[in-house]
Amino acid sequence: MSTGLVIGRFCPPHLGHSHLIASAAGQIDRLTVIVFSKDEEPVPGGLRAEWLRAMHPGVEVVNIHTDLVTNWDDEETWQRWIALIRTAVPHGPDVVFTSEPYGSELARRLGAVEQLVDPDRATVPVSASMIRADPGRHLRHLAPKVRAWVGKTWVGCELCEAARMTAWHHEDDVCWIADCEVCDTPMVVWQEHGASPPEADVAHMLAELERVAAAKFGAGEFTVDRTMRQIPGHFHAHARDRNWWSRRFSR
Ligand SMILES: [Zn+2]
Ligand SMILES: [Zn+2]
Repeated sequence: MSTGLVIGRFCPPHLGHSHLIASAAGQIDRLTVIVFSKDEEPVPGGLRAEWLRAMHPGVEVVNIHTDLVTNWDDEETWQRWIALIRTAVPHGPDVVFTSEPYGSELARRLGAVEQLVDPDRATVPVSASMIRADPGRHLRHLAPKVRAWVGKTWVGCELCEAARMTAWHHEDDVCWIADCEVCDTPMVVWQEHGASPPEADVAHMLAELERVAAAKFGAGEFTVDRTMRQIPGHFHAHARDRNWWSRRFSR
């Protein structure tokens, strides 16, 4: 049986992490992911581990809470990190999967082979520090549960949360379209928190909304309403059919 290890802070976990974990899990029999956390970090370590467990069933996820510094030039620090890792992974692993520069030394010290996964972050062009610095810009790189937490806790915006409580019609890098909870009619929402997307993005979003609305109501059987009443700080638009108003009050 082959074993693998991924370590990181995952603060917060994003789709680049998921790519690393999924490709690692596909190459060995048993994968352990260690989530290192410390007190001052903005996402509780237990929550990060819980998200990763839910996203990657079959992978063993362990949270280790420590205030040990990260200093890859110091021999004693290295030994303490290895001792911590050994509390979760007493034997092996055969392979250390990483996108980080410290990966080869980590693998060597564990007696493992290093396997680099997407070190240039070409698959998902984001890092956790980019997300922490500007969470409203990188929501598209988060899994739904993480996104809901980041949208609520860091941005404080319902549209950033993107809670999937109604019919979900479409999603791409620019926007998503779901039935508006209040109006019960399709609504397009920008993937970034802000009121003024670039013109090309606006054109793309309105075209996608019209496509969804035409499929639902028939061509010409709806109007596009770009007025942002409830949440003026986050671009969204509704496609309203003739009956939406009466439907809203008959529910
Ligand atoms: Zn609405
Ligand atoms: Zn928002």
